[in-house]
Amino acid sequence: MCDGLAEPGLALLRREAEVLLDDLSALGRVDAWIVRGRSQVDGPALRSAAPRLRVVGRTGVGVDNIDLEAARQLGVTVVTAPEASTTGVAELTLGLMLALARDIPAADAALRRGEWPKASMIGSELEGKTLGLVGFGRIGRAVAARAAAFGMSLLAFDPYLDDDAIRAGGAEPASLETLLAGSDYVSLHLPLTAETRGVFDRSAIARMKPGARLVCAARGGLIDEQALHQALAEGRLAGAALDVFAQEPPRDLALLQHPRLVATPHLGAQTVEAQARVAIEITHKVLAALRSA
Ligand code: NAD
Repeated sequence: MCDGLAEPGLALLRREAEVLLDDLSALGRVDAWIVRGRSQVDGPALRSAAPRLRVVGRTGVGVDNIDLEAARQLGVTVVTAPEASTTGVAELTLGLMLALARDIPAADAALRRGEWPKASMIGSELEGKTLGLVGFGRIGRAVAARAAAFGMSLLAFDPYLDDDAIRAGGAEPASLETLLAGSDYVSLHLPLTAETRGVFDRSAIARMKPGARLVCAARGGLIDEQALHQALAEGRLAGAALDVFAQEPPRDLALLQHPRLVATPHLGAQTVEAQARVAIEITHKVLAALRSA
């Protein structure tokens, strides 16, 4: 087990197995390897663990840190815990949107400096605004349900879902162009793959409605951070909120310090509830995969 696992999962594992914590030198003698997003499960690591390794468990949904092709070639099963973090990420996304709409981080910082900037701080409301969701899977739909409760109109672009599935999730299907041009908030909920890396580049950001806000609690690498910085600096976007970065911790401090950027350190699934859920879900899946391997 690398990168940490909440106690309920560890306790379950210890009942059935010897558990080694953060010991990469032991890779050659483990049957299963559980990681979070930090460990790189690349070809060399997988080969060093083969032929004994049979299962890799990822405590979450993103498998962008796992070389799936190498795992397939080595006969290693990869299991994930995709359900556990949905609520945590969806709630954080709404939190980021509210933080942008009302400038909550700046207001808090001003009060801590002894200021009272009430007169100069006029925010806007989510009600009546259009939210465009790019990626309408588990988290996209959970965000839609919550944003609908705030009175937002919802557009969704997801090339792998048919229109009925999008409507069933409470959003209006839209092309990416229509979504970009018509949304006051755009929130990304698609996976990072070779196809989606950098999809929010200079050109996509330029096609967003002037004064819109961009939110990403999906994966770093989806957004070209330099292009985002430029759009904020030129005032074309009213704000942006990022929970994830191309490199974590991020290197581009100028972007982080921009007054209209709200940033959190990859906190989407960092809730007590999600961590407990993910630990139990991944433990059951890894043990089941070991039993059937
Ligand atoms: P999901 O697989 O349920 O949904 C992803 C959706 O994206 C799918 O419906 C898929 O069809 C769609 N999609 C794929 N390619 C697309 C494209 N090019 N354009 C538009 N849509 C596309 O996944 P999920 O559980 O909803 O997770 C969504 C994202 O959230 C992932 O990137 C995941 O890594 C990320 N995530 C972040 C955190 C965090 O801590 N911030 C935690 C969990 C998950």
